Amino acid sequence: MSALLLSGSRVLVGPAGEFVDDGAVLVEDGVIRAVGPRQDVERVAGPGTPRRVFPGGTILPGLIDSHVHLAFDSSADPLTAVADADPAKLLLGMAGRAQQLVSAGVTTARDLGDRDALSVVLRDAIAAGTLAGPRILAATSPLTCPGGHCGFLGGEVGTDAEIRERIKRVAVEGADLVKVMASGGALTPGGPRMWEPQFTAAQLRLIVAQAAGYGLGVAAHAHGTDTIAHCVEAGVRTLEHCSWRVEAGLRYDHDLAREIAARRIGVCRCVSGDWRLFLTQLGPNADALVDSIRRMREAGVLFIAGTDAGVPGARFDDYVGMLEFFAELGFGNAEIVDMATVNAAEALDLRDTGRLAAGLRADVLVVRGDPLTDLSALRDVEFVLTGGRAHVPA
Ligand SMILES: [Zn+2]
Repeated sequence: MSALLLSGSRVLVGPAGEFVDDGAVLVEDGVIRAVGPRQDVERVAGPGTPRRVFPGGTILPGLIDSHVHLAFDSSADPLTAVADADPAKLLLGMAGRAQQLVSAGVTTARDLGDRDALSVVLRDAIAAGTLAGPRILAATSPLTCPGGHCGFLGGEVGTDAEIRERIKRVAVEGADLVKVMASGGALTPGGPRMWEPQFTAAQLRLIVAQAAGYGLGVAAHAHGTDTIAHCVEAGVRTLEHCSWRVEAGLRYDHDLAREIAARRIGVCRCVSGDWRLFLTQLGPNADALVDSIRRMREAGVLFIAGTDAGVPGARFDDYVGMLEFFAELGFGNAEIVDMATVNAAEALDLRDTGRLAAGLRADVLVVRGDPLTDLSALRDVEFVLTGGRAHVPA
């Protein structure tokens, strides 16, 4: 049996606002055995247990990045890089990027689109202990319409029969969820534009039902306001981007946002650490986008944290840059930590992570300083456990 006792100035047990000062976490065989005041946990651990003490440090649940693309390299043209790459070379690049994620404190990463199901291979190698990295949830090739957004990843489907066949294949390849490009996207030249639907409401219902038949939830890339409505009605688990696009700009729908909140659908409003540039590029739509996020917050929407790491400018080592966008919008630090941990775990249907509690997976992050008073403390990663496995950032 392998055990480890971690103690620090503060332990964020989650959810928001729940913490223990001068606290400790006891981990045994990859699972959290006890959490609480240091003296109590020390008694449970017994005198011979190996321990690490982090004076001035905060212990919190490992971070969850709900939206990454390990196959993309964050360069200006990741599409060509992916489409042309030899699979072995691509996989090595993905392994390196997974290491960057865990060094940034990410213990769970949901990959929302790769090719040849390489993220499944990587997921299994990390789970087996061969490579350092976060636990990966893999969507493999996203479903998209012929000529649609990210079709080069191999998931183009037109007819209902093709939808059924593709989802079967995704399941057989070992995916953890299904990703659908429900609307167009910015990355793919020649495809439908961002506000344009790529699937009908009936097709989206079929996709959710087929995925459910294999026990899989659906993550929907949805920029267009009509598409968002169709995805909610179809019963997707998470909405990616959710940017309320219409041809003339943005059209936010507060009643629909309330429905999203009531159904506990996670909204992953992906931004990279480069969000200032992103807002500049949005031009006249920037204010409306920021306003839509504030209104969704008023509606009680379950926000979850995701970087879209891999797309141009979205790095694998700048998780905190994305969180700072929400701080800029007036979200509180405890609320932001929840987006990155307990809320993301709920939306991704992970019952064994996202909080520090006895019986959960030992996904634990230790940072210098206190993220509740200074969010940038999350940049100062001292120690990470993923499922009990130790990782010290380089
Ligand atoms: Zn994406």
